[in-house]
Amino acid sequence: MKLHMQILIALGLGIKRNGHIFLGLIAGIILGFILHNYKVTPTGDVNMTVASVISALDFIGQLFIRLIQMVVIPLVCSAIIVGIASVGDSNQLSKFGKRMVGYYAIISFTAVTIGALLAVIFKPGVGAQSFITQSSAITAQAQVQEAILEQQGHIAQIFLNMIPQNFMASISVGDMVPVLIFTLIFAIALAKVGEVARPIVGFFESVFAATMKVTDWIMYLAALGVFALSAVAVSSFGVGVFSAVSSYFMVLLAGLLIQLCIIYPTFIMTFSKVPVAIFFSSITEAMMVAFGTASSSATLPLTIACCEKRGISHKVCSFVIPLGATLNMDGTAMFQTVAVLFLTQAYGVPLEPMQIVQVAFFAFVASSTCAGVPGAGLITIALILNGLGLTPQQLVEGFAFLFAIDRILEMFRTVLNVTSDAAIAAVIADNENEIDYDLFNNVDEYKEILE
Ligand code: ASP
Repeated sequence: MKLHMQILIALGLGIKRNGHIFLGLIAGIILGFILHNYKVTPTGDVNMTVASVISALDFIGQLFIRLIQMVVIPLVCSAIIVGIASVGDSNQLSKFGKRMVGYYAIISFTAVTIGALLAVIFKPGVGAQSFITQSSAITAQAQVQEAILEQQGHIAQIFLNMIPQNFMASISVGDMVPVLIFTLIFAIALAKVGEVARPIVGFFESVFAATMKVTDWIMYLAALGVFALSAVAVSSFGVGVFSAVSSYFMVLLAGLLIQLCIIYPTFIMTFSKVPVAIFFSSITEAMMVAFGTASSSATLPLTIACCEKRGISHKVCSFVIPLGATLNMDGTAMFQTVAVLFLTQAYGVPLEPMQIVQVAFFAFVASSTCAGVPGAGLITIALILNGLGLTPQQLVEGFAFLFAIDRILEMFRTVLNVTSDAAIAAVIADNENEIDYDLFNNVDEYKEILE
């Protein structure tokens, strides 16, 4: 068995670890509710004990996210270079690329359509204006005003920014899209130059193996990290805010659930013979870590590991998943569509059908330009809100309101962003005979390897 495969299998992404993370997740959510309820004493003061528990949990959660983010850039660069070099043949590469873009488009198109339909049918924003203006979000307004100004009307600039002027500068600030674009071009060039590229490809093979090993170590903290992150997230959102905009939450969650439980299985069954149940069980761990971290970039090493250790080829995983983690954000696209329609409904701004299509289209574009890090989907929403007829004051208020209630929704949509990358990788691997079905279907063999 190839070395990298052994490492991946040894990553031990098994049922045992899934169980621990799941327990961590549930315990974190319960603790978060308890902490939220006791945050303020009956006399209205801040409960210092609860506040220190929350900051300790926040510390643990941030530690976990930082550790995992630490390996993302070396992992993404090495995975793409090794993956593309191993495809070698440029015809096969362009076939992978075309399929990948086509599948990304199908998945994101479905997401924005479902989001738009649900928002138009159930009108979650109607009557919500008073909650927006009264909400505690007002305090966040100054923070977000700057972000709105930065984003507005600069769609051309956003595309320009995807091309790095200085690759090292993009790496140093963790700007994933330019890093990906450069790495992709560089990797294709390496594949083209042939034998002379061998030493550098060998170097990146070692980088990949080592970063995956580091990921394995970090994953021992996954249950604790997910526990801490979900407790902090749940403790921070007020139940008052939740009930005030419950229809917004419900519509969005319903859309995400439809995408997860109906669209992905249908997509997988239509375009491949990958068994859906095994697929979902294979990536459960990545889904839970995505929920806890709310970052598809941070989850990326795990997404790759979950797919590879079940027999999806390294060629496909290392090409499709890193690109997907940045470019394919169907959960985010759906969220952006619903959120923008929610705000226009809340402020009573009527939209023509063509404007709704425009919102969906911009959500599609904006989601692909946003990085897989917490908060990115919300910031890029300003791009879509622009020109819809909301006053500057409404824009700031509305945006700040979304900001205040976003964290928990972000956890859900990140699960989708990650799952769809894995689903597309599985389907492409099936189409290109790059999946080892003996390993994929054989849970026993996998268990044995773990023990
Ligand atoms: N946090 C999301 C992700 O990493 C992006 C977003 O919707 O903000 O996939």
